Amino acid sequence: MNYSKNQILEVEITDMSETGEGIGKVDGYTLFVKDAIIGDTVRAGLTKVKKNYSFARVVEIIKPSKDRVNPPCESHRQCGGCQIMAMSYEAQLSFKENKVKSDLVRIGDFDKDYIDSITENIIGMENPYRYRNKAQYPIGLSKDGEIIAGFYAKRTHSIVETKDCFLGVSENKQILDAVISYMKKCGVMPYDEASGKGTVRHVLIRKGFSTGEIMVCLVINEDSLNRADVLVELLENVPGIKSICININKKNTNVILGDRCETLFGEDTITDYIGDIKFKIGPMSFFQVNPAQTRKLYEKAMEYAMSNVDLNGLGYEGDNTAIQDNILSGKNVWDLYCGIGTISLFLSKKAKRVTGVEIVEQAIENAKENAMINGVTNAEFYSGAAEDLAPVLLKNGNIPDVIVVDPPRKGCDKKLLDTILSVKPERVVYVSCDPATLARDLKLLCESEYELKKVCPVDQFPHSTHCETVCLVSKKYPV
Ligand code: SAH
Repeated sequence: MNYSKNQILEVEITDMSETGEGIGKVDGYTLFVKDAIIGDTVRAGLTKVKKNYSFARVVEIIKPSKDRVNPPCESHRQCGGCQIMAMSYEAQLSFKENKVKSDLVRIGDFDKDYIDSITENIIGMENPYRYRNKAQYPIGLSKDGEIIAGFYAKRTHSIVETKDCFLGVSENKQILDAVISYMKKCGVMPYDEASGKGTVRHVLIRKGFSTGEIMVCLVINEDSLNRADVLVELLENVPGIKSICININKKNTNVILGDRCETLFGEDTITDYIGDIKFKIGPMSFFQVNPAQTRKLYEKAMEYAMSNVDLNGLGYEGDNTAIQDNILSGKNVWDLYCGIGTISLFLSKKAKRVTGVEIVEQAIENAKENAMINGVTNAEFYSGAAEDLAPVLLKNGNIPDVIVVDPPRKGCDKKLLDTILSVKPERVVYVSCDPATLARDLKLLCESEYELKKVCPVDQFPHSTHCETVCLVSKKYPV
C-alpha cells in the first residue's frame, strides 16, 4: 500500500516514542502521531511520509484513551516541553515504569519475570507541578510591538507569550512583570536576533527550594545595564529575592549564557540543599532542576550502595547476617560522571574514601567547593573522561569496592565497562537517564560474574517522556 501526504488514516495508539509521539500501526505500517497518547483511537493526517513509517497529526480523536486528561496548560501543544501532559499522572508513571522494564527485557536480554520480581515501584511526585527550580524565559516583541516573555515554539525561534509555566515556581510571573515594566519605563529593548540590536535576551530565574532564596539574572547584549537602579527597586520587593545580576552575552549564538556575570543587588549566589548537603548556586552553576526528586534518586543510589539486599531471597544460601546495613563503612567508592559531586558528597558521609570523576572542569571546581562548604575531607575530584581516568586511578593504587556511575544519555563507554569488570568491585550502582542505554550496558556488565539485583525507576521530569532509573549490580553469590 502506498501512502501519501495529507491522507487520513484511522489508528489505535499502542505505544509512545521517546519524543512523546503516539505510535500506532495500520496494516503493519507505523505512524508517529503528534499529540496522541496510548489508548487513543484517532483519525491521523499524514504529515511526512517515509517508506516504512510516517509522521502524522491528530485530525480527530474518535475514542479518547481512558488515561486522557485536560492538561492545565493551554500552551502545552505549542511548547513541546511537556510531551505527555495530556496523560493522567498515574498513566505517565506506569508508562515510564513499563518502558524501563521492557527495555531491560528487549535490549538487555533479561528474563521478564525476573525483571518484574526485582523492579521496585516507580518513585513519582505527590504534586507533579512547579517542581523546576530554574527557568529561562526569552524576551522579545510581539507582532504588535509589545515586550513579551515566553517560550520558543517547538523547533522555532518565535516567542509564544506565557509568564506562568506550570512546571516553574509561582514567583516567575511577578518577576517577569517587574522586568518588563522596568524595560518599558526605561526604554530598554529586547534583543533582536536578526539585527543583533537591543538589550535583554533572556531572564534567568533560580530558586532554592529549601531556603526560599531567589536569584534573577538578566542576560544582556551590552556591557552594563541602563538604569539598573530601577530594575532593582522593582524586584527588591518580590519575597525571597536574594540576588539580582546580569550576564553579558554579546555573541550571535543560541547559547543562552555568556561568560561574565555581575551582581547588581544582594549576593553573588543563592543557597540550596539536597538532603543535608549544602550548595551555593550562581547564575552559571549546574544544579539539578528538580531537587525533591534528585534527593529521592540519590537516596536510592545510596541505599543500593550501602544496604543489604536480600541475598538469601536471591539464591545465596550462606549466612546473610555478615553483610550488615552499613556496608559502605571502610569502603573505597568511585563516583563516575560525578557532575558537581552531589552523589559523592552523599556517599562521603558513610564511605571511607570517595573519588569523583567528571569531564567538565568547571563542574569539578564546583564539586571541590561543595566538598569544602560541607566540611567533607574524604572526597577527591578529578576532571577527565571516566573511561580514561579509571585506569589511571587504578595505577595509583586507588582500588574501588563500590562504583557508582551516572552517565549522560549515551550511557557508559565500553572501555569503562571493561575496566569495571576487570577491577571486580563488590557492587556497581548504575544511575541512568536513558533506559535503552542502561539496558545495553547492564547486558554487558551481567554477562558472567555480576548479577542485576535491584531496579528502581524515578520520575524526575513529570509530563515529559524522560525517566531515570537506579540499578544495583553485584557479584553473584556464592562468590
Ligand atoms: N551526578 C551528577 C550528574 C551527572 S549527569 C551530579 O549530581 O551533578 C552526567 C555527567 O556526566 C555530566 O556532568 C557530564 O558532563 C558528564 N560526562 C559526560 N561524559 C563524560 C565522560 N566521558 N567522563 C566523565 N564524565 C562525563
